Amino acid sequence: MTQECIFCKIAAKEIPVSVIYEDEYMIAFPDIKPAAPVHVLVIPKKHIANLLELAPDDSVLMGHVLSNIPKIAVLLGLAEDGFRLVVNTKDNGGQTVDHLHWHILGGRIMTWPPG
Ligand code: 5GP
Ligand code: ZN
Repeated sequence: MTQECIFCKIAAKEIPVSVIYEDEYMIAFPDIKPAAPVHVLVIPKKHIANLLELAPDDSVLMGHVLSNIPKIAVLLGLAEDGFRLVVNTKDNGGQTVDHLHWHILGGRIMTWPPG
């Protein structure tokens, strides 16, 4: 747990969220400012600032998180029409919270290229 990290506080249940999926290693909850009809954030409970900060030891954790994302998409009803998965990384990527997270966006057609 990193002091003052909002997502660490969510993982530690210091800030309540509506839990969509949770296990020992990860948690999924709705984005506070949805950018699509369905907008869910998926985080590892471990504090990792961004993809560039991954340690070799994190590969099992990353496999765990990523392999659960399609299950969460099914739970959200996104399997039939599909969804977009986004990991904003540092300033040019548009990252605003420095705790690794995946955005699951669905419920409408996404445009490409992104803004
Ligand atoms: P980023 O811009 O870093 O890729 O995404 C951070 C996301 O976290 C944003 O979409 C923002 O709306 C969301 N967010 C920031 N603070 C909170 C919070 O306290 N609760 C929830 N549920 N989402 C948050
Ligand atoms: Zn954190």
